[in-house]
This record gives sequence, structure tokens and C-alpha cells, in this order.
Amino acid sequence: MNETLETCRLLYNDLLNDRIKNKTKVFEQKRAVTALRHCNKFLKAVHSQVLQDVVFRLDKAFNAFYACLSKYPKFKRKDRYNSFTYPQLGGFRVADGRLRLSKIGLVKIRLHRSIEGIPKTCTIIRDIDHWYACISMQLEPNLLEQKSGKPDNAVGVDLGILNLATLSNGIIFENPRHLDNSITRIITLQRRLSKKKKGSANREKAKILLAKAWRKMRNQRLDIAHKVSFSLASEYSTIVFEDVHIKNIVKNHSLASAIMDASWGQLRRLTAYKAERRGGRVILVNPSWTSQKCSGCGAMNPDMKELSIRIFECKECGLVLDRDVNAARNILAMGLEQAHAEEQPLLIKRRISKFVPVKQEAYGFSRR
Ligand SMILES: [Zn+2]
Repeated sequence: MNETLETCRLLYNDLLNDRIKNKTKVFEQKRAVTALRHCNKFLKAVHSQVLQDVVFRLDKAFNAFYACLSKYPKFKRKDRYNSFTYPQLGGFRVADGRLRLSKIGLVKIRLHRSIEGIPKTCTIIRDIDHWYACISMQLEPNLLEQKSGKPDNAVGVDLGILNLATLSNGIIFENPRHLDNSITRIITLQRRLSKKKKGSANREKAKILLAKAWRKMRNQRLDIAHKVSFSLASEYSTIVFEDVHIKNIVKNHSLASAIMDASWGQLRRLTAYKAERRGGRVILVNPSWTSQKCSGCGAMNPDMKELSIRIFECKECGLVLDRDVNAARNILAMGLEQAHAEEQPLLIKRRISKFVPVKQEAYGFSRR
């Protein structure tokens, strides 16, 4: 599996180089890979569809760039290429607790849940010293969860550091303490790593420890995000979040706040797909003023800029409310207003590539 990853990585980099230099089209690259596979022993050792998927991935990266959704595709370093995909059943098969991967063989697996429906794709993922198989399946619609939240049951969610989520009805989801411990450990290990000599064996060891600490934190974060998003999506049919743009927080150099921001993004994404699956929806609103505005009468209270003030007190109408609940109520009101105005489908502008096809030059695979 390591060998396959390495071949795929080198192929990816070669294909990227080819696209930059020769402006090759995706179908030309697909054909070129098929032809090359006949005369290269490394390529031959990898299932043909896995290689085709590498072409597809690169194309996807370019399309995301053209649609202004991501940066220009990068060359992949050794530790930055960690998965390969069998895009069709046949390349892989699951039977008797084993996974049969074409060109690799039988691999013992631990199934976390039973396979329902028809397996469609299988992605093998390397995570330092763990390996995962991610199998996507096609299900009959009636097998999907149909249980939707009560109709017209809307909620506003204020995402925070002290509490992960505060709802407009006063329900609170706390941030687990162990996440803090993990962040502290990451900071310690990062500091330790920076003191190690470049290229030394100790530095490599420190690097792995750090990567494992990150993995632990990631898993903890994912776990809580799944729990909270499940709870939100099964209780409410309309869920309103603040649309905090990631860039705002990245400017703030604290690691903990960057991680918090990533957690919020993750929670919004997971809630969105879970709600959609149940026929619900997620609305994102502009985050400005949500904590300074009175959710009762709309008057502003500039004192609330101070984050340490936990209770919102309105000088106009006398409302007294928890700071986060007040914000969540504002978020809910804005979301419902926005939903009303925004009945039209969202159009994503796409920039169309202006590449002119250039005749392909001699193209080879760097691994020989
Ligand atoms: Zn008021």
C-alpha cells in the first residue's frame, strides 16, 4: 500500500508538471497513463483504475481552482499524499472480514459497520501508522434516515469557545475538557520539535509524536461534531449559524483559536448534510452585531464588546439574558429573515478555463 501511494504521488506530480508545461487536457492524460502503464513496471503494479483516479483527482483540483474555490494545485511532498481510490467495485471486494484489493491482495479489516447496499468506491487512507478503508455505498432511498425534525422547528446557534454551541432556546453544548488537554499537548510537542536538529533521528521521532497528537485532537473534534450535529439535525428542521469566514481567524495567530474555528466549520458542514438528509436545512448569516444587539427590541448595547460580560442587559427594554443565548436569538431572527428573501437558488459563478490545447510533447513517467 505504501508502494502504491508512492507511485500515485509521483504520477500526480508528473501529471501536474505536464499540465503546467503542455496544457494537456484531462482525456489526453487518461490516454497517456493507459499507454505508459504497458511499459513501466511501477505503474503496472498498480490497478489501472487507481491510476485513472489520480488523473481525475488532479483534474478536480484544477476545476476547484478555476471555480475560485481553492488555490493552484501543488506538487505533493511525500507526507502529503496519503490516499488512493478504487473508483469501481471489482477493483476491490469485501468478503468474510477481508478486503480484496486488486494488485495488492487480501487485507484483514475491522468493519465498523455492516455493508448495506452496493459498494461503489473504496479509498485507502494512510494516517501515520493507521490504515483506513473508506467505502462508499449506494443505498435505496428507503434505507436512508427519513426521520426529520419537526417542521417549522427553527433554531439559532451561537458557536463559542467557552461553550461549543448555545442554542436560541437556551440549550448548551459544552466544549469537552479533553480537547483543551490535546491542544496543550500539541503546543508542547511543537515547541519540542522546533528545538531538535534538522535531519536528526530525534527530530523524526518528535515529528511522529506531534502528528499523532494532531490525529488524536482531530478524532476528538470529529466525535463531538458528529454528536452535536446529530442532535441538532434530528431536533430541528431549520438551523441557523453564523458564517464566520475562516480568513478572519487565521490572522489571529493563536493555535487554539485556529482549531476552534476549524471545529465550527466542521460542525456547520456536518449539520448541513445531516439536516439535508432529513429534509431540513442550514442557513448561514452575517456574524456582525449578533452579540451587541438586543434580541428583544433591537437596541444596541456597545458594552457587550467586552467578552468578559456574560449577561446581556438592555437599557431600552430591560431584557436580561445570557450573552450567548441573546446572540443565538439574533442569529435565528436573521436566518429566518434571510430565508424569506432568498428563495432563489444560489448560483456559483464559474470561471471558464481559457487554456488553448497545445500538442502534447513527449511525456514520460519519472519513476523508472
Ligand atoms: Zn431591548
